[in-house]
Amino acid sequence: MSQADSELLERFVRAVASMVRLDSDHAATILRKLLSEKNGKGLSDEELEELTNIRQGEIRRILRLLYELRLASYRRGKHPETGATRYYWKLNLHTINNVLLSRKKSVLRNLELKLEYEENNQFYYCPLDGSRYTFDEAYEYDFQCPKCGSILEEDDRSEIKEVLRLVISRLRESIARDEERLARQ
Ligand SMILES: [Zn+2]
Repeated sequence: MSQADSELLERFVRAVASMVRLDSDHAATILRKLLSEKNGKGLSDEELEELTNIRQGEIRRILRLLYELRLASYRRGKHPETGATRYYWKLNLHTINNVLLSRKKSVLRNLELKLEYEENNQFYYCPLDGSRYTFDEAYEYDFQCPKCGSILEEDDRSEIKEVLRLVISRLRESIARDEERLARQ
């Protein structure tokens, strides 16, 4: 998973965790431990406790949340020494990729709307106090700052628009790659 994808996933898990009043830092920590587990066996809540020093009760609530979101699943196994039943947790990469894809699409829609807004609107600012106005507002004030009376100047937003276009095109490429990958699974 790319760095950008795992950051997006982490933001999503943090947001959901705080919605259900779980500690979002702890949820992100558990997520990162599961993401870095490469041997395919999964991690038990006991192992997660050792790795993170988060209390087991809280770990279980976080795992339960990941399970309800279909981001993680578990298998039953036996403790290597005691033989007691253990649950080993793993991330569900197929669901995660779908979640990431739909998050990216909604981010893309927002950015496209933002760019459209920038392209269809002119902005003005006061050179003295920095206050900002849309064209309609500036027009209403006769292009004079309502706070200090300075003549408003047109704000050159080309740099922001350039950044938006760049981010949008990268995001579109990333979505196309994801869709191709998911189609092959
Ligand atoms: Zn002003």
